Amino acid sequence: MVSLWEETAGPAPERPALGGDTDADVVVVGAGYTGLWSAYELLRREPSLRVVVCEREHVGFGASGRNGGWCSALFAGSREQTAKRHGRDAVVAMQRAMFDTLDVIERTLAEEGIDCDWARGGTLQVATVPAHARRLREELADHRRWGFGEEHYRWLDGAESRSRIGCRPNLGALYTPHCAAIHPAKLARGLAAAVERRGARVHERTPVLAIERGRVVTPRGTVRAEVVVRATEAYTTQWPQHRRAVVPVYSLMIATEPLPGEVWEDAGLAQRETFTDGRRLVIYGQRTADGRIAFGGRGAPYHLGGQVRPGHDRDRRVFGALERTLRSLFPQVADAAVTHRWGGPVGVPRDWYPSVGYDRASGVAWAGGYVGDGVSTTNLAGRTIADLVLGHDSDLTRLPWVGHRSPPWEPEPLRWLGVNATRALVASIDRAEAAGREPRWRTRLANRLLGAH
Ligand SMILES: Cc1cc2nc3c(=O)[nH]c(=O)nc-3n(C[C@H](O)[C@H](O)[C@H](O)COP(=O)(O)OP(=O)(O)OC[C@H]3O[C@@H](n4cnc5c(N)ncnc54)[C@H](O)[C@@H]3O)c2cc1C
Repeated sequence: MVSLWEETAGPAPERPALGGDTDADVVVVGAGYTGLWSAYELLRREPSLRVVVCEREHVGFGASGRNGGWCSALFAGSREQTAKRHGRDAVVAMQRAMFDTLDVIERTLAEEGIDCDWARGGTLQVATVPAHARRLREELADHRRWGFGEEHYRWLDGAESRSRIGCRPNLGALYTPHCAAIHPAKLARGLAAAVERRGARVHERTPVLAIERGRVVTPRGTVRAEVVVRATEAYTTQWPQHRRAVVPVYSLMIATEPLPGEVWEDAGLAQRETFTDGRRLVIYGQRTADGRIAFGGRGAPYHLGGQVRPGHDRDRRVFGALERTLRSLFPQVADAAVTHRWGGPVGVPRDWYPSVGYDRASGVAWAGGYVGDGVSTTNLAGRTIADLVLGHDSDLTRLPWVGHRSPPWEPEPLRWLGVNATRALVASIDRAEAAGREPRWRTRLANRLLGAH
């Protein structure tokens, strides 16, 4: 049940656990992208900083090593919410910062020699039923309302869309060039090596038991540091004071064997465009550098109390549904073997709005709540944390997600009921739309519950 990425990322160096007390300027909790980009950007700005990273398992163990590999310009927070609180300019600034983030990542990968199979082919959101075409065109109109033109988002008619992706049916697609397909685990490992080259110490198998003012406590030693960066995303629910901060929602993935050239002649994705369709219960895929389809989706149940356990990474029913959906979208892979199945938790805040911040009084910086769109947003988070911690007033520190506080989730069992009922509602909308119906009141209800997502 090892992920495709874990298996194909090449050998991983073993890093020692923390063996005793130590001093640092900054201690980072969690060696996913958030923690690693934060360490990297701090050291890039202040090479003399002493940075220690403590990771409970190993580099890229969490969502960062297991995701769908869409390095996109998607920011999960709703534009309406941003505009209401901060005005129209803040919406545009946030989106532009996300566009820029792809350039920053691409440049950094080149500078650091990180090979993570980067291919900037954009994203195709395909309409596979008429209701998707309507919704995606509304989405396009929304982009236009905020001032984003053809160079950022455009409609491909059926013929043009079919020339790029051979899924069935294909009624047209909303295309954006702002996405790269990547190999997630190679990015995590490459980043860890880059921060080590800049002098950080990364300790694996080092669980942080407590975060206190000026120190973190691990089983075999304490790290004393003025600044603590909490970068634990879905695992944040383990801290008693943050139990209701996010719900861990499981996203599951499958991957096919490498597919022969004649399959790709028909299936397309020649630029390794990432792809999805217009359904509400999200699916996502990419053509991997070694010619497979890696394909994932939501739909796994939420577990009472927000538990995060290895057993939840697997759900036979969801894997089966993913396989059926993939084979029906791409009849070309009807006989292809599915070689890998895995999953992981994403962190969803109550208002679906990610945040980054630094509380100088407690010395704790944090970022997260990316709702499953964190591959690129974590880089923006890392740069922002570095500016906040070092006291640099910058365009980044004025973005609307800085210092945002999401309301807490409801106590259990209300949370369990609400999350699972919403999941069932959204799945029922997809079924109705696939059958050619327009479930209006359910759609309105879902929009309300999900903050217009
Ligand atoms: C299946 C799947 C598919 C996804 N697809 C995409 C995608 O295509 N595009 C996209 O943008 N996003 C995607 N995401 C989301 C994206 O992967 C995450 O938003 C991002 O990786 C979050 O990075 P992070 O570093 O904040 O968290 P994580 O990668 O989860 O890292 C947190 C780390 O903290 C460690 N930790 C936790 N508690 C402790 C402790 N007490 N002490 C020490 N260490 C601790 C964990 O072991 C973990 O390594 C997907 C997620 C999943 C699960």
